[in-house]
Amino acid sequence: MAQTAEASPQAIYEMLMESQRWSADQMLAFQQSQLAQLLRHARAQVPFYKKRLDCLFSESGEILWEKWNEVPVLTRKELAENTQALQALQIPQSHGNTLVASTSGSTGLPVSVTHTRLLSDVCRALDWRAHRNWGFDWSQTLVMWHHYGEKYASKGPDHDYGPWGPKLVGQPAPGRTFVHNTSFTLDELTSRLTGSNAKYLFAQGNVPLNVALNLIARGRSSPLGAVVAHGVQIDDQFHRAMHDAFCAKSYALYSSKEGGRMAHMCHASRNYHVNDESVFLEILDDENQPCEPGKPGRVVVTNFYHSAQPMIRYEQGDVATWAETCSCGKQGPVIKSIDGRIYHLFHKRDGSTFAPLVIDSLRADLDAMFWQFVQIDSGTILVRYKPMTQRSSATENAFIPILQNALGDMFDIRFEVINELPLTSSGKFLKYMNAI
Ligand SMILES: [Zn+2]
Repeated sequence: MAQTAEASPQAIYEMLMESQRWSADQMLAFQQSQLAQLLRHARAQVPFYKKRLDCLFSESGEILWEKWNEVPVLTRKELAENTQALQALQIPQSHGNTLVASTSGSTGLPVSVTHTRLLSDVCRALDWRAHRNWGFDWSQTLVMWHHYGEKYASKGPDHDYGPWGPKLVGQPAPGRTFVHNTSFTLDELTSRLTGSNAKYLFAQGNVPLNVALNLIARGRSSPLGAVVAHGVQIDDQFHRAMHDAFCAKSYALYSSKEGGRMAHMCHASRNYHVNDESVFLEILDDENQPCEPGKPGRVVVTNFYHSAQPMIRYEQGDVATWAETCSCGKQGPVIKSIDGRIYHLFHKRDGSTFAPLVIDSLRADLDAMFWQFVQIDSGTILVRYKPMTQRSSATENAFIPILQNALGDMFDIRFEVINELPLTSSGKFLKYMNAI
């Protein structure tokens, strides 16, 4: 933490542009130095961690890195039940003021997380690095689709929040930023997006997908440069819809309030590059052992800059899979896919769980514009979908064996027609939902 404690977001950004070229050894040394500061701070200042990290320390106070796997994973339930005991009694003054953020209950148990100004600055710098890697032009106009809290509601959708990039020497004129409320109608979001002459759209959840499908259904488009999705897994359908409705490339940031900015999508592939300067990210199997590339496991994350509320080896609640390497040539850990929330795994009749995957090209077989799969009991999958033309029981019946084959079990399949994508209250669309 000392390395960045006094730094401005601009200085952190400049460091990040350098550090993404570090060797694996350089990065490991940096991560250990950051982790060591966090671990010592947690042990000294955080009641919850007074004894919990003992396995990592020798009698003389050295950190035994080879014992890392013995540090208990912090579950969401533990986080919810120990919020007070997880607060640091003191934080370094240079980490700035604190702010409490609560995550909505739609992702499970509601939890709150105390952030520092330093953590926000690091997040901002990591966003800038992602923009730079994606070739974004900060002098253009950005529209954000955000659920209005008081902060935005009082200013309204016409307020220009000003530049969204770093202040750098030799950069073009600063851009403009508008924030539009995700509770506006799809038509209002579209017309405001066009009216603001936006080049970029940043949005939480799958609202862009709903707007895009609405545009496509009416044979319209609204050109943009790129769409960035926060806090949602994006798939082929998302990429294609952004291309068809906005002529836009689409990217995603893998982030959460607990883990901070964990990874950003590669400019050249659909992999995610882990922000190693900010987090230590693990993918673990059922025995809490690290997963090899290609094997899905649970994401467990430690953000180095959560000094006000350290969360060491926090179980993020996502399933992800490492890639071997990335086609862009960048070194370092790279995630091939983030497969959604753990509690949305499906159950087979024999009791085993699995991450369902129904590839999007199969939508043509059901004549579906979009769809969602809901497990309603141990033997039944409900397919909610919107027909492209007209609902047909012959088409549905013919699709049943295709879906059973894709899911790898002889589930009973039922169908329900819907007109809009069902979103959770935080704007997330869950393609696979376990409703048992
Ligand atoms: Zn890459």
